[in-house]
Amino acid sequence: MPGKILIAEPLATNRILLKVKLAAGHFEVIQASDAAETLRAIRLEAPDLVLLNSGLAGNNLATLIDAIRALPGQADLPIAALITEHLPEAARRDLAGRVDALLVRPTTDTLLLARLRGLLVQRNTLRDLRLQSGGGAPGFAEPAVPRLQPPGHIAILAPQGAPGQMLLRGLSRHLRHSLRLVDAARPFPDLTSGPRPDVVLLYLPDMSDRAARELVAELRAARSTRHAAALALLDSGAEETALHLLEARVEDVMMGRTDARELAARCDRLLTQAQELDHLRRQTRDGVRASVTDPLTGLYNRRFALPFLERVCSGQEGAGTDTLETGFAVMLADLDFFKNINDKYGHSGGDQVLRQVADHFRAILRDCDMVARIGGEEFLLVCPGVTPDEARQTADRICREIADTAIPLTGYSQPVHITVSIGLVMGRAGRGELSPTGGESERLLARADAALYASKAHGRNTVTYQPRSAA
Ligand code: GH3
Ligand code: MG
Ligand code: MG
Repeated sequence: MPGKILIAEPLATNRILLKVKLAAGHFEVIQASDAAETLRAIRLEAPDLVLLNSGLAGNNLATLIDAIRALPGQADLPIAALITEHLPEAARRDLAGRVDALLVRPTTDTLLLARLRGLLVQRNTLRDLRLQSGGGAPGFAEPAVPRLQPPGHIAILAPQGAPGQMLLRGLSRHLRHSLRLVDAARPFPDLTSGPRPDVVLLYLPDMSDRAARELVAELRAARSTRHAAALALLDSGAEETALHLLEARVEDVMMGRTDARELAARCDRLLTQAQELDHLRRQTRDGVRASVTDPLTGLYNRRFALPFLERVCSGQEGAGTDTLETGFAVMLADLDFFKNINDKYGHSGGDQVLRQVADHFRAILRDCDMVARIGGEEFLLVCPGVTPDEARQTADRICREIADTAIPLTGYSQPVHITVSIGLVMGRAGRGELSPTGGESERLLARADAALYASKAHGRNTVTYQPRSAA
């Protein structure tokens, strides 16, 4: 089942007709005939979407919508309003700002089903992102973006000329977001150079169905617009194009009308949703980053480093370098007599040393290298696409530069000095796959550890290069 839909409709004949249509689209359907029944059905049956006839609660439709949104866990329940073309302009605008979709009757069955599916996709995206970002169980999370939203950005794609200009002027009177016109005939790179739009308004009069679809496909593929919400303004009767654009994941379509205030209300709602999705995406990204980062030094942690090494071993990581040809370096670096630093300067002194040593690693290594703190004062470095000579030079340089650096500590007038011991081995991509037992990364780490131990045994502040396994 693609989803459970509540039909809130006062007339029994209409309910039956709608139910047949939705059942044909494989939706599960429940029904309500007045406001009280609607609220009860939502509480008890938890539908995924409400299809609300605008005549249901008479003049109190806004109150009903507010009551639905106030139900626990239902703040973002998608509500689609079915209206007729005769609904007074003011009521229509008011609804446009409150519901997720305005569906004007008469509409084709396929278009109706496409709109409902689109709304469910949007709702599922929101729920998935909430879960990933740690926002809590679906249905229980309140919207992450407070209602006081920052101004956003809307790009209007229109053909050059007066109608686009009028649209821009009309919308700017009713919106506090920044707006700009982009020539629909050549939207890129114009769209990519300006501020990233939250909403793209597509004004596509006379555009062929195919050209419109291609334009939307490009928008969905481009970095700067792939997450923007899209609203298409089409000629009346352009049902076929509307259907195709909805299938191409345009969020909203408006046909044959250019009432600026209604359009502004729709844009505003879409923009709020787009900003919340953006906020959740950023939270998810930050959360993922935090889970692989060492909070003290900002370097990667063990959780990131070991799978990274495995990927380098199997040739999946380090692309763009010559890892397959030249091989890659694996180094284990351990600070010498670090315990003494802690004993003398306290744990916070030790932490300052760790942070500054980490800065040195970062400064010396290339962007494609990976450095992680995998133990208290132990670091793993992986350098893809280097020759043994280059690897030794890098390791020697790390050793030398750290030894030569005077490390200032807050609260002490004299800087401290620290040295590092390094065990270096070379690996070659693909060997893990060829070996029947795999485990290449473990073998490399064990060899690097043996080399590090040799450096410690030979007086520290040195690099031991172990080209081959001792076994
Ligand atoms: P060696 O040259 O043999 O490596 O001697 P060492 O003193 O560096 O090694 P040892 O393993 O004896 O001591 C490591 C010390 O690192 C002990 C531990 O308290 C300290 N340490 C581990 N993690 C942290 C940390 O996050 N911050 C600080 N300040 N100290 C840490
Ligand atoms: Mg140590
Ligand atoms: Mg150690």
